[in-house]
Amino acid sequence: MSKWPIGVFTSVDAGLGVHLEVAQDLHVPTMHLHAPHPENRSKEAAEAFLKRANAAGVQTTVVFSGFDGETYESIQRTAETVGLVPEATRKQRAAEFRSVSDFAKYLGCPIVALHIGFVPDPSTDSYKDLIATTRDLLDYVKANGQALHLETGQESADHLLHFIADVGRDNLFINFDPANMILYGTGDPIEALKKVGHLVRSVHCKDGTWAKPEVRGKEWGRETPLGEGDVGMETFLRTLKEIGYTGPLTIEREIPHDPVRQKADIGKAVSLLEELRAKIG
Ligand code: MG
Repeated sequence: MSKWPIGVFTSVDAGLGVHLEVAQDLHVPTMHLHAPHPENRSKEAAEAFLKRANAAGVQTTVVFSGFDGETYESIQRTAETVGLVPEATRKQRAAEFRSVSDFAKYLGCPIVALHIGFVPDPSTDSYKDLIATTRDLLDYVKANGQALHLETGQESADHLLHFIADVGRDNLFINFDPANMILYGTGDPIEALKKVGHLVRSVHCKDGTWAKPEVRGKEWGRETPLGEGDVGMETFLRTLKEIGYTGPLTIEREIPHDPVRQKADIGKAVSLLEELRAKIG
């Protein structure tokens, strides 16, 4: 794969991504795929999707897992419902994640990813159990020939590094989403990228503006079209170069309620990234 191929976040029947056809129409060669609902994760379903993706000329580089019952309607509700952190659903979701790993394997995809949730304080029992659960999952995905990438945003860079070190497995890495650092108010994305860069193996190209200082971390910032937010896409790409990242630049635009605008915004994002890649790459 050439350096910095463009990608787009896609969905089959779940998540906020665009349909495969949009990636095809925009001539984007790679995608992150939000895993479908459980009933569409069979080997047959995966093979049928792989056929379509191959015909469209789009390669799946990461399969993302989400779970029923997650909501991002507010930061508070995100903390309560997202990922493996909520204890009531941890076991069941860990089992579900194994099926996502199998689905990714059927697609020939070597990376699975998720929002693990708001990692609790290291002194708690919940943290210790989360470490154990994550280790089990890492062993499972390793047997499938895969690495696991954690999406950034819900923790500061330091907290995330601490967690990854405590897990202590060699197939745990980071999917760096600079906009999430801003939207969740967890820290300057460029500084964070420099700190965790050695573990970054995939990225989202997403943009956003900070919430007002007095509500930062409590209320969402605002997601924007790429290049119109506070990330600074040129600085982001220059920093990716600095840390030696050469993988896909995967565009994420989370407005599935407006598919026409979503496709138009992604089209503009492709042009912006191609321009910056030519200048910096
Ligand atoms: Mg993201």
